[in-house]
Amino acid sequence: MDLEQMLKDLKVLQEGHFLLNSGLHSKYYFQKFRILENPEATSTLCAMIADHFKDAHIEWVIGPTSGGIVIAFEVARQMGARTGIAEEYDGKRMIRRGYDINDKTVLIVDDVMTTGKSLVETLDAVKGKGARVAGAAVLIDRSTGKMPFEYYATYARTVENFDPANCPLCKAKVPLSTLGGL
Ligand SMILES: [Zn+2]
Repeated sequence: MDLEQMLKDLKVLQEGHFLLNSGLHSKYYFQKFRILENPEATSTLCAMIADHFKDAHIEWVIGPTSGGIVIAFEVARQMGARTGIAEEYDGKRMIRRGYDINDKTVLIVDDVMTTGKSLVETLDAVKGKGARVAGAAVLIDRSTGKMPFEYYATYARTVENFDPANCPLCKAKVPLSTLGGL
């Protein structure tokens, strides 16, 4: 399977000149909802995560809202594990809903990792409930810099972001798409 071609065909990985939510510009944009809307493609990528952690005796798979819920559900389904969500509550990411993960082996998952913030928050929330974290995994890693935790990604691509004042794509007069802000 040519994963990069699949991501291009599904219009997940788009090339152009994009305005991101952060206000920065980028040559590439990952539209994660083009994966999440497609159960077959999502399932294919989740199978790579399930396979990677097949010997880790995972009991729970937990992901941060919102895209992480879909990934956690499908990875858990394939691994025969339970699934839960880490959600924002009172300005903090928490494990609620009575999930009994104390002393359980947990895999943390998410769709796209950019800054790693929601994964770090989910790791903290899961550890705070007394669970053992067996690892973390994402479908797409588009982070720049080193993360403070080990993780597995089904697809990784470092995407450089540009300040609008120093953007080579602006200088080249490539039309700017606001798709990234949708
Ligand atoms: Zn630009």
